[in-house]
Amino acid sequence: MTTPTTQQVTDADGAAGADLREQVLLDRDGLVAIAAGWLARGGRVVGPVTGRAVAARAPLGPRTPRVRFAPVTDPELLVLDGFVHATNSAKPLVMPMTEKLYGYRREGRSVELTPGDPPPAPTLLIGARPCDAAAFPILDKVMRWDGADPGYERRREALTVVTLACTAWDEHCFCTSVGLGPAATRGSDLLLTPDAAGGWRARVLTDRGARLTAAASGEPAPAVPSDPVPSDPVPDDAGLAPSGPPVRVDVAAATRAMRASFDQPAWAEAGRQCTGCGACTYTCPTCHCFDIADEAHGLQGARRRNWDSCQFASFTAHASGHNPRPDQASRQRQRLRHKFVTYPDLFQDLLCTGCGNCYRACPANLGVLQVLRALAVGSPSGPDDGLDDGPDDGSADGSVATGDAAEVRA
Ligand code: SF4
Ligand code: SF4
Repeated sequence: MTTPTTQQVTDADGAAGADLREQVLLDRDGLVAIAAGWLARGGRVVGPVTGRAVAARAPLGPRTPRVRFAPVTDPELLVLDGFVHATNSAKPLVMPMTEKLYGYRREGRSVELTPGDPPPAPTLLIGARPCDAAAFPILDKVMRWDGADPGYERRREALTVVTLACTAWDEHCFCTSVGLGPAATRGSDLLLTPDAAGGWRARVLTDRGARLTAAASGEPAPAVPSDPVPSDPVPDDAGLAPSGPPVRVDVAAATRAMRASFDQPAWAEAGRQCTGCGACTYTCPTCHCFDIADEAHGLQGARRRNWDSCQFASFTAHASGHNPRPDQASRQRQRLRHKFVTYPDLFQDLLCTGCGNCYRACPANLGVLQVLRALAVGSPSGPDDGLDDGPDDGSADGSVATGDAAEVRA
């Protein structure tokens, strides 16, 4: 490991923007040193990995590496460039797939309650994409809506997010259709944008981000972030990265169609394709439906919160046998309307960051993007087909970013 490279640089906007507190130059070794320091202080580091250490550091070939978010004990294994998007989401860092709320033990007529899952170690997510990071403030709105959720709050407070701006995208990405972009800052503590020297400009967005860069400079940094999680976005990308994938769907037109009529031909078509596997919801950074189940083992057991999916028939099955959403068409309608009608009505926000994971993970080649496009075609707004006619998949230099999606589905 070499000495971290940091250098204060002057931003063109100076101190004019409240979010532009400072920028720091970082190289890979500097970032690895930040992660190593975090681990040394007892924290947890999570980031994109391939599972193959050699491939993680190898020069990029024509195909982008397939990565997934996972905890690392060796930060050298982190894949910090070249990939488009992780195959999973970072959502489990705040909403684990299964969570023990509390346990119980019966003895005679008395019942003793035992603690649930312990609080998480301070967690550094390093290598999120902007569409991953933006999901956290979106989840905050519903998880902080009508009551305190102590488990969620503990995990959220423990989380620091370092985001890598995108320089390539695939045909599934549509962040620019939902108001984000390859260097969107929402939900990040530190945003890294590649510089010409092969490192990154680190844009400090929160006090947590400032402490990370201080640590890279050799200054002491607290092990546990103590400042409140910023409640919401810093909205723009300040032109620090390429413009991103073309706008691929007219979300406003698709939403108008959903509001105009509960029945749309798009539901039947999507329902015919969908197998109800739930992969789209499980890999989605913003889907948050859960079930609470009691697991009993003799005289003891646990109450657990588990991920659920609106694409499962059992999600709405009544004890009587009646199911108000009896087919995949009605379940697809539920998913799309929740993300683009109900959630915006409640929180003035979309429940989608355009990450494309629902499409990458789908065994039926179906994703929110395709359904939105079908809805936009039938929009009462007129002839707009909702499709972008501009250049398709590309990277900053205009080369085609291929392979990731095919590799994911292979
Ligand atoms: S991943 Fe595809 S097939 Fe599976 S539930 Fe989602 S849309 Fe249906
Ligand atoms: S609905 Fe699809 S594109 Fe939108 S955030 Fe979820 S996985 Fe990503």
